[in-house]
Amino acid sequence: MKIKVFQKGFNFSQDGPGNRLVYHLQGCNMACMWCSNPEGINEKGSIMMSLDTIDEACLKGAIIDGVFDAKLCKGCDRPCLENKDTSLSLSYQEYEFDDLIDETISCKPMFFSSGGVTFTGGEPTLNLPLLTRLLKELKAQDINTAIETNATHPDLMSIIDYVDYLIMDLKHYNKEKHRNATKVSSALIKRNIEQISQIKPFLLRIPLIGGFNDDLTDAQGFIDHLENVNKENIKVEFLQFHEYGKHKWAQCGLTYAMTGNEYVSNERVKEFRQAFENAGFKVVNT
Ligand code: SF4
Repeated sequence: MKIKVFQKGFNFSQDGPGNRLVYHLQGCNMACMWCSNPEGINEKGSIMMSLDTIDEACLKGAIIDGVFDAKLCKGCDRPCLENKDTSLSLSYQEYEFDDLIDETISCKPMFFSSGGVTFTGGEPTLNLPLLTRLLKELKAQDINTAIETNATHPDLMSIIDYVDYLIMDLKHYNKEKHRNATKVSSALIKRNIEQISQIKPFLLRIPLIGGFNDDLTDAQGFIDHLENVNKENIKVEFLQFHEYGKHKWAQCGLTYAMTGNEYVSNERVKEFRQAFENAGFKVVNT
């Protein structure tokens, strides 16, 4: 089984402790409107334009006047990728299992300050058997492991023994709003957060998106939603809306639905932190 990686690189203390090699695995079961890695959503990979791409790069007419429409790619067997002159590219690179493990072993001297390897996405649990193999092998190599997951997998519990540092995301407490924004139900996320909080510490990431979940009534909505968790095992981190990945939506021929009015003030983030601390949660300052 090959591993599709659409982005990789080191960061310090952002996706787990210490200096970490972070692999972004292709494919996600959600399609959040604010996603900063839209090229990672399609499990089959995304065709991406570059600044040099001309309309003729696609002979099926998916690029008109320099504007790419990925909807027209549906069902195409991607002949554009055979022609290296089209300046269209595929979002991911494939790794053999052993090659990825060898790469992480060769990077061991870089894992200082309790660092290691993080798998994120996309959604790294999409292929749970493969992720389980990777995590087990890294543990066997004495490498610290972390994952960032949207917490939708029904068997998430089955891998947590192989995860040293767990990050779970929660986008909204309201079922309909969650489904409208992500295309996925929030029921399993709630269950996973509640169950795992009984047995393992983790970081809970809440993206704050203006007009979606940033009202002070939303802070209370999240707190109420988390009424059955073991707070002792949870640290909460709020991520402010940004548009670092905006350009990639057009590169992938996808429609970007955010308007630029979704930025959340530092003051509002402070108010969310305070509300959660008042409710007994530990909050991470980032
Ligand atoms: S996959 Fe390539 S050739 Fe097919 S429609 Fe998309 S851009 Fe055109």
